[in-house]
Parts: sequence; C-alpha cells; structure tokens
Amino acid sequence: MPELPSVTWAMSHRGRHLAAALTAIVFGLLAACGAPAQPEANGREPVVVTFSVLGDLVRNVGGDYVTVTVLAGGGVDSHTFSPSAADGAALAGAHLVFENGLGFEPWLDDLYRASGSHAALTVVTEGLPLITANWPTARGAGGDQSGLQSYDPHVWHSAANAITMTQKIRDALVLADPANAAALAVNADAYSAQLTDLDARIRAMVETVPAENRVLVTSHDSLGYFAHAYGFTIAGSAFGSLSTEAADPSAGEIADLIEQIKATGVPAIFAENVENSELMEQIARDAGVSLAPTLFTDALSAEDGDAPTYIALMTWNATAIVTALGGSAG
Ligand SMILES: [Zn+2]
Repeated sequence: MPELPSVTWAMSHRGRHLAAALTAIVFGLLAACGAPAQPEANGREPVVVTFSVLGDLVRNVGGDYVTVTVLAGGGVDSHTFSPSAADGAALAGAHLVFENGLGFEPWLDDLYRASGSHAALTVVTEGLPLITANWPTARGAGGDQSGLQSYDPHVWHSAANAITMTQKIRDALVLADPANAAALAVNADAYSAQLTDLDARIRAMVETVPAENRVLVTSHDSLGYFAHAYGFTIAGSAFGSLSTEAADPSAGEIADLIEQIKATGVPAIFAENVENSELMEQIARDAGVSLAPTLFTDALSAEDGDAPTYIALMTWNATAIVTALGGSAG
C-alpha cells in the first residue's frame, strides 16, 4: 500500500467538516471495502483522477488503455468538493489514483482511507518547480497565513508544467501496464507536442499586450503559475487566498483592492468559473474597470461548454486575458 502524501493537511483543515459526509460514505462502502480491485472486463486500467483538468491530461495519455473516473468534474470546485459514496466506490475499484496534491484536494486522504482502496497514488506536482503566494492581495502580502497551503497548487496554468505532468502520468501508467508502454509513450509524446504548441501560441498572444497592462487581478490566487510563465504581475485577488474556502473579504479589504486596481491602471479584472462572480462585478464597477469574460481556473467547463479540455481552457483564458488587457488574440 502506498504512502499517503498529505494526511496532516486534510485532517487538520477539513477533518470536522468531512466527518458527517464520510460517515455516510463509509456505510455506503461496506460492500466494497477490502475487496481487491479487479481489472475491467475490457482489459483497461481503472483510474481515478481527483479533478477535471487533470482528468483530461490522464485521458490524453491513457487513451484506450484506461477507464478514467473524475471525482470533481467540470465546473466543480475541488477546494470545497464534497465526495459522495459513488466517489468512494470508484476509489475502491481503482488501480491508480492521480492527484494534484499541495492541498488542492483537502478531502482526498480521508476518502481514500474510508474507501479501503489499494490504488497506487501519483501526486503529479511532485518534482515541479513550485511557487508560493508572496504577492500582495486583499489580505495583505503573504497570502494564506495558515502554513498549510504555502505552496500554490494551481500548477496547470503553465503549459510547461502540464508537459512535466504528462510525463509523470505516462510513467505511472507504464508502471501499471508495462505491456502497453510503447503505445502510452506515443500518446504522451503526441500530447506533449500539442502542449508545446499551446505554450508557443500563448506566448505569441501575450507579446501583443502592452507591457504596462500585463497585470492580473482575480477572485482567488489561482493564476500565479500563469503569471510566472507568461510574464504577468499579480496585483491582487479579492479573496487573498490560494483556496476558495477563504471567508468573504471585509469592506476594508475590498476598498484596499479597489485602490490597488486604480493605482496599477489595469483596464480589466477577472472572475473565475469556480467562484461567484458578483463580488468581482462589484469590484470592477467600483474601480471603474471592465470585468473580462469569466476564466476557467480550477475546473474545466461542462462537456458542451467553452473549456471542455485543458487545451481549450488555456486557450480560452489566454484569449480572454490578452483581449481584455489591450492585446490581440488573433
Ligand atoms: Zn484554486
């Protein structure tokens, strides 16, 4: 049985919150607990992925060799996700689990334990160059002060990071299914080539944005890796937190952020698909700037939405950001 990487985060931060939900899940799982996971009848590896963005990466590498179950699906916020009994059952039947780590899935470790799963866990952020939330926010410099989430978990907003994650996914799938190693490597290489192209397209778009406009204000601190990779400054965020679990900002904190927006002179700020946009609408109005089309930050859209894949998400976000800040996405 593999080591669980982030037990202390989940227990200390969300333990009480999860207790009621987990009780229900445990009872729902009595039949599944301890049962060894069986290969699918079709020979595919049963794989569980914690959230939608990562699920798309795993599907691109795993192709026909995996059956992927995503727990926090399109439009669902992983920070505040409440797993169901069905999610526990999926874990119990999985051979492999892919998670982001860094506190992004505060519900996972308890769920994994309650499910009796023996699946191998892969934390796709291991080995990535991580950044901390040290930009100014509505809560003041330093971001989350709890110490539990000092590293920014939103690594996928850099396409280069997604390429590294793709390699990690390939390695884990090959370990579980060595007979298909060559085909999995072909899939990973083909997808990585698409991601390299995506990275170049974003860079070309950003080049068209006036340098003084390359400033981001969002709902929560979700775009640190985007800013770092593509040359933007983070001027602040409404919630001043790496997690959407943060309490609403006070009137004074909002006033400070509005002053910050005015001082930077940016033409637009950004709402996110996993947050209520009303607060950002109010901040934009009071600061006299535009509210750009909503970004997809922590989750894909629904299948029939504007960002049903990772590449679509990154393309949408880059287009919205570049256009709102005075550049050209064409
Ligand atoms: Zn987030």
